[in-house]
Amino acid sequence: MLGLMQDWPLTVDKILDRAARYFGDTEIVTRRTDGSVHRTNYAQVHARAKQVSGALKGLGIAAGDRVGTLAWNGARHMESWYGAMGIGAVLHTLNPRLHPDQLAWIINHAQDRVLIFDTSFLPLVEAVRERVSVEHYVIIADAAEMPENQLDAICYEDWIAAAGVDTPWGGFDENSACGLCYTSGTTGNPKGVLYSHRSNTIHAMMAISKDCFDLGSHDTVMPVVPMFHANAWALAFAGPMAGAKMVMPGPGLDGRSIHELLTDERVTLTAAVPTLWMGLLEYMRANDLALPWLKRVCIGGSALPERILRAFEEDYGVEVGHAWGMTECSPIGSVSHVPRDLADAPLDEVLPHKLAQGIPLFGTELRVIDKAGEPVARGSGDSGNLQIRGVAVVSSYFGGEGGEILDTDNWFDTGDLAALDAEGAIHLTDRSKDVIKSGGEWISSIDLENAVLSHPLVSNAAAIAIPNEKWGERPLLIIQPEAGPAPTEEELRSFLDGRIASWWMPDEFRFVEAIPLGATGKVNKLKLREMYADGELAAI
Ligand code: ADP
Repeated sequence: MLGLMQDWPLTVDKILDRAARYFGDTEIVTRRTDGSVHRTNYAQVHARAKQVSGALKGLGIAAGDRVGTLAWNGARHMESWYGAMGIGAVLHTLNPRLHPDQLAWIINHAQDRVLIFDTSFLPLVEAVRERVSVEHYVIIADAAEMPENQLDAICYEDWIAAAGVDTPWGGFDENSACGLCYTSGTTGNPKGVLYSHRSNTIHAMMAISKDCFDLGSHDTVMPVVPMFHANAWALAFAGPMAGAKMVMPGPGLDGRSIHELLTDERVTLTAAVPTLWMGLLEYMRANDLALPWLKRVCIGGSALPERILRAFEEDYGVEVGHAWGMTECSPIGSVSHVPRDLADAPLDEVLPHKLAQGIPLFGTELRVIDKAGEPVARGSGDSGNLQIRGVAVVSSYFGGEGGEILDTDNWFDTGDLAALDAEGAIHLTDRSKDVIKSGGEWISSIDLENAVLSHPLVSNAAAIAIPNEKWGERPLLIIQPEAGPAPTEEELRSFLDGRIASWWMPDEFRFVEAIPLGATGKVNKLKLREMYADGELAAI
């Protein structure tokens, strides 16, 4: 027997409809490329997103067509999202930090018909234009800001001004495609993850829940994580869904710019990868600043170093949520979880739980399996392959790239290795492609990096495997020192002594001025391995 309830398709246009209806004058603040601060609100963004829909229709864009964006976080980027998604077109966020060859490949693979982009990316777009089959280019600018270009580009403000605000939204199946995002492709070609309206809506509902973002209409949320990095971790949906004020930082992601917005706009929740917070913390320490309004910061994308956790919680009184996820799971897969009986315990006691990647949100299931495919026991300390399935997890890649990716029970193998603690929370030990295997045993590069990152003179660190005749592989630790006197190798060895198993002690250390970061701000180990092979990492 079926239930007798209404069919109310979960489509993302309803998120902005409601935000405009009930939180119409709640602000959306954007720091633009020129540094100026622009203010609008949900009512205006809604009306302008409707105009984007009309303008896209005017270009012949229909349901299922791909619309690309190359833009920083900002109100006009949000209008483009909702404008495209509202009429059933597929919004494809492109990462401007990618190499032009990769960008061209992705645009063509996605068959983007329109490309909407920030003025600052004009040189990048012009560099790929000969190689891509985009039909229309739209520059996010008004007539006065419009740069000269070879693209016959449309001026965003003129384009939407000519369209009405009454283009209807929705009316399609909630399983229709909604957004497209490519994974970084550190192995093989990038692969497209095609989100549906249903998956994005439910994922946003999961994300605003207390144990994840804890987001409500009295909050002010600043997605520092870019909208092109896995949907700004759901925040461009979760913010309007909660009716929260939004602060969009644009391209200014340095410590000073971030701190200014966090303070001036009284941001209560923010989120980004660890490397970004290192910049903010350094800036605040150097200038003796505080964070009077911020209540919670969500950190993920790579493992949370103890030092960052301690700094936020102990020095600035900000609660840290540590999330694990991937583009393939929309992206949030799990969030750190402190057991109930430790709710009021001091940080030292809850630390292991906060540093772990935690438990899945409702809507997602996780398991860890050993080489024989058997589930790893909780609390055993054994590490195995982390697998995921759920309502917002990929079932296959766009265009069938990579073939079948699920097993018969729908489990998707994440390529990550994890152990389970006694409560069932995951503790990530490595990405399988980054594993260091010494004498047949695994050394966790994440744990090794975290151990050395607790040293006050170490700004960033990366462990990679280097070939070794006797052991197969041994760890090499690459250190980016803080400004000022660098620690010596002896200091680092004695610091690590007792913090890691003795056989994990790196055979070699290298210092670099700056550890290379990939397109989403994470340490680029592929590049570091290349640098090592090319002799570019000189011994200390
Ligand atoms: P990519 O890094 O390949 O561009 P994603 O942003 O989807 O693509 O990254 C997903 C990967 O990032 C995960 O598979 C995992 O290896 C890593 N990751 C994400 N969150 C965490 C975390 N909290 N701790 C450790 N690793 C993480």
